[in-house]
Amino acid sequence: MVSVAEASQIIQSVKVKVNKVSIPVEQVTGRVLAERIFADRDLPPFNRVAMDGIAINSKSFKAQQQFKLENIQPAGAPQTELQQPEACIEVMTGAVLPGGTDAVIRYEDVVIRNGYATIQLREVAAGMNIHKQGSDAKKEDILLEPGQVLSPAEISLLASVGKTQVTVFDFPLTAIISSGDELVDISVLPEPHQIRRSNIYAVQAAMMELGWRGDGYHLHDNKEMMKDKLRELLAHYDILILSGGVSKGKFDFIPEVLNSLGIEKLFHQVSQKPGKPFWFGKSAEGKIVFALPGNPVSTFLCFYRYVKPWMLMTMDVVVKKSQAILSADVTFKPSLTYFLQVSLRNDNGRLMADPTPGGGSGDFANLKNVDGFIELPAERNVFKAGEVFDFYAFR
Ligand code: AMP
Ligand code: MG
Repeated sequence: MVSVAEASQIIQSVKVKVNKVSIPVEQVTGRVLAERIFADRDLPPFNRVAMDGIAINSKSFKAQQQFKLENIQPAGAPQTELQQPEACIEVMTGAVLPGGTDAVIRYEDVVIRNGYATIQLREVAAGMNIHKQGSDAKKEDILLEPGQVLSPAEISLLASVGKTQVTVFDFPLTAIISSGDELVDISVLPEPHQIRRSNIYAVQAAMMELGWRGDGYHLHDNKEMMKDKLRELLAHYDILILSGGVSKGKFDFIPEVLNSLGIEKLFHQVSQKPGKPFWFGKSAEGKIVFALPGNPVSTFLCFYRYVKPWMLMTMDVVVKKSQAILSADVTFKPSLTYFLQVSLRNDNGRLMADPTPGGGSGDFANLKNVDGFIELPAERNVFKAGEVFDFYAFR
C-alpha cells in the first residue's frame, strides 16, 4: 500500500508520448496548445481611435476654441491627414488616428454647430482616448505558450493573429473498460440482479472535457476471457483505464491478469478513502494501465485526483492548485487520506467547502450535489472548521 502522495508521485513520473494535431480554431475549446503563438503585427496594429468623437492636435487646444470639422475618418478606411493644425477630424471607434492629430475628444465632451466643434473640457492631453500602436503586444512577441488550455480568451488571440488551424496536443489511444458480470449495457433493461454500467460514461465525459476520447469496452468476470480481451486491447491502445475487479473479491482478477500480460505493477492499494484498491502499472513497451476501483464514486474521484492531473502534466499544462475552507468540524478515524465530497459556497469572497459526503463510495447519486472533494491528510483524525485544504473540482 502506498500513500496518496506516493501514488501521485509514481503516476506523475510515468511519461507517455503525446502527439500533435492541427485542428480548426472553431474546435479548440478545452484543448491544450502545442505550439507557440506569435503576434504577426503590433497589437493594436495602428494608433486606434478608442472613442467616437473628434481628433485634434492637442498643441492647438485652447478653451472655447472652435475647431473646423475638416474631414471624417471612419473605421476601416485608410488614414487621413489633418490639413490645418487648428481644425479637427471626426473619428469613429476603431478608425486609424488621422495624421497630424494626437488626441481624441469624445462626442460627449464636444458641442458641434454649423460645421465647428467646441470642446467642453478645460484640458486636453496628448494621447487621450487613443489605443496606442503596439501597446498590448509588439510584432513577434510571444502571445501564447505550449501547455496553455484554450479557453475563449485565448481563442480571441488565436483569431486575431489569423490562426485558422491550431496545433494542439493529441491524446494517446485510450480504452475505457468496465468489468463485472452484474453490469449490462445502458441500452438494456437490467434484470433484478443486474445494474447498468454507468462508470465508463462518467469517465468518458470527464475525459471529453479535455478533448480526450476513449473507446468503451466491457469485460466479464472470467479470467481467460479477460486475458484474451486485455491482450487484444493492449496491442492496440496506449492507455487503458479500467474500472472494477481490483479489490479482494473472489472474482477480482484484474491485477493477476494484467501481471500475466506483462504489465508491471507500480502500486496496488492507496491509503485513501474512497478508492483504496486502486492499481497502477505499465509495460516495458510503455503501455499504461490505470485500474480504478469499480465503486462509482471511487472511479470518479480517482479519475479527478490522479488521471486528469497526469494527463494535463503530459501536455505541459501547469495545473494551478485549488484550495477551499472547510466549513464544519469533521472527524475521520481511519489512518487513510479522506477525499471528502463537498459543495462549494461563496461566503463574502471566501470559498467555503460544505461537507456533503453522501452515502459512501457506491452513492453516485450524491455526485450531482457536490462540486468536488477536499483532501484531508491521513496523519490526522480531526479537522476543524476554518482550516484550508486542497480542493479537486468536478465542475
Ligand atoms: P468492483 O470494484 O468490481 O468490486 O465493483 C465495486 C462495485 O462497483 C460493485 O457494486 C459494482 O457493481 C460497481 N461497479 C463496478 N463497475 C461499475 C460500472 N462500470 N458502473 C457502475 N457500477 C459499477
Ligand atoms: Mg466487479
